[in-house]
Amino acid sequence: MDIIELQEGIYRPEFIYHGEDLGINYSKEKTIVKLWAPTAENVKLEIYNHYEKEEPFEVFDMFEDLNGTWKVKLKGDYEGKYYLFAVDFGDRIEKTVDPYAKGLAPNSEMGLIVNLNKTNPENWENDKYKALDSAVDAVIYEIHVRDFSTSPYSGIKNRGDYLAFTEEGTVNNQGLSTGLDHLKELGVTHVHLLPVFDYATVDEENRYEYNWGYDPHFYNVPEGSYANKPEGYQRIKEFKKMIKSLHDNGIGVIMDVVYNHTYYTNESAFQKTAPGYFYRLINNCYLTNGSGCGNEIATERPMVRKFIIDSLKYWVKEYHIDGFRFDLMGLMDKETMYTIENVLHDINPNLLLYGEPWAAEPPHLEEYQKIHKGDQRDHKIAFFNDDFRDAVKGDPDGFKKGYVNGKFETYNDIKNGIIGSIDYSFEVNGFTYKPEETINYVSAHDNLTLWDKINKSVSKAPEEERIKMDRLAQAIVFTSQGIPFIQGGEEFLRTKYGNHNSYNAGDHINQIKWERKTHYYDTFLYYKGLIKLRKEHPAFRMKEPDMIRKNLHFIESEDAAIGFVLKDHANGDDWKDIYVLYNPQHHWSRFWLAEEKDFNIVVNGKYAGTEVLHSFQADNIKVPPLSAMVLYIK
Ligand code: CA
Repeated sequence: MDIIELQEGIYRPEFIYHGEDLGINYSKEKTIVKLWAPTAENVKLEIYNHYEKEEPFEVFDMFEDLNGTWKVKLKGDYEGKYYLFAVDFGDRIEKTVDPYAKGLAPNSEMGLIVNLNKTNPENWENDKYKALDSAVDAVIYEIHVRDFSTSPYSGIKNRGDYLAFTEEGTVNNQGLSTGLDHLKELGVTHVHLLPVFDYATVDEENRYEYNWGYDPHFYNVPEGSYANKPEGYQRIKEFKKMIKSLHDNGIGVIMDVVYNHTYYTNESAFQKTAPGYFYRLINNCYLTNGSGCGNEIATERPMVRKFIIDSLKYWVKEYHIDGFRFDLMGLMDKETMYTIENVLHDINPNLLLYGEPWAAEPPHLEEYQKIHKGDQRDHKIAFFNDDFRDAVKGDPDGFKKGYVNGKFETYNDIKNGIIGSIDYSFEVNGFTYKPEETINYVSAHDNLTLWDKINKSVSKAPEEERIKMDRLAQAIVFTSQGIPFIQGGEEFLRTKYGNHNSYNAGDHINQIKWERKTHYYDTFLYYKGLIKLRKEHPAFRMKEPDMIRKNLHFIESEDAAIGFVLKDHANGDDWKDIYVLYNPQHHWSRFWLAEEKDFNIVVNGKYAGTEVLHSFQADNIKVPPLSAMVLYIK
């Protein structure tokens, strides 16, 4: 365990500051600068004309203010100046960037004084949060900014950049839509961006390195390597243009946020301004490592909680962000998550909040502070449902099988997923109170892609069969209650060539290979059809547990097949009864339907959507191997 310094007395209650003005408060006439550094003996503010200058252009003494804060008022217009703090602890002076910085020099070497009014795209004042009645109406598409467009087959000009999300009319080498048009064609409601706040490991000026971005550096500034140039306002302007473009096209934006650790520890702005305060420690000096990345941010401390909430509010208000995914939420304390929920839903009641209810190692927290599955019950926070994920396809990286690729013992866990993991019955129940508390998915950036996992677990099966398994897996996700989530590119069988942890593996492994849209066009259409079915039919999006208990009934089937009916115009659906049937077996499987009625099939192993593929009258039906079927009675 690494050791860091903890300054004596830093936890004193009089050092808890409640003001909303930490960092830069810019106006044309004056700029007020505030820093929380409660144990410092002296603080100076250094102003630089340019980030490459060695010597400051001006130096100001800061004055002790309330609750451990330091303040200085600069007269005149300081827009575009760079700045650092020199924090004097008596035995040493730490030069640091402002942890609350809203603008940065390339590679975060200095803070930048920003006039945010000058960073807004046209018509920004009319830009709205993505409308969303309920979290279960969302269809989430997870994507890394760079992966989205670096392929030469993307047809996109601003490859690897925020601006890729602003380009319309782009096509792959076969003329099929890519980028933004592809997202619209697929029908997703939200993109979930892998980290886009400033992270440490990619040189923003040459971008030779690749990283997912789970290496936080500065939390309140967009990452510079996704801008055409990392200088000045460019990254802020381009980031806002991306948001505006997605909003204009009806797509919400979710940020993946990593408030559980920082990349640097001794060299972090947190440690240089408030030594020891921001990290969890054992014996006041040993860093704990629940993140697996060398430290844990002490979210439970008042000024850390405040920092996180200030940061989230800033992204929501300044950048119009529609939701957040919390990396390793299991490292955050319960009270912080509940406070986040209250504060952010006061601003936008439909904002999406979800995360991983786990950590790399157990967090260094008291038992009552820890987040476990179930702690989201009746809160508007959703958890990734790993039980359902693994039940569908097996373990994330290994050879084990799940329901769609040959292990039918997970039968009951599939049922738990179908009902949104609510308390449905004695045998079938999960961790949620409401379906909006579960993120249903079969793969994400971590671990093997769904296609790679299927290939690994049933490597000898013909491709045709593996594709059937893939479609069945997503049919389960999209017909289950809860919030569906897909990893970007799955819709044309994304592969990372078997790499299960590609965080720094480079563009070749990670990029979306747009030519695959042509090769696997039928599968793309299948995913698109499942999304359309779900979006047009509220029976798949029931909001209350009572509604699910009343309207969703499992039906009789053979062997390991699972069938259920969404009855009586569930959730106002215009179809009376919708039957959903899954057959993961290699033989045909019979399902008993209620009575002899006119049934209309809209999903089978080949096609998915809302168009009637075939109609029939019978009181039972046989479903082909390795496929889902959806049929309805008018
Ligand atoms: Ca960076």
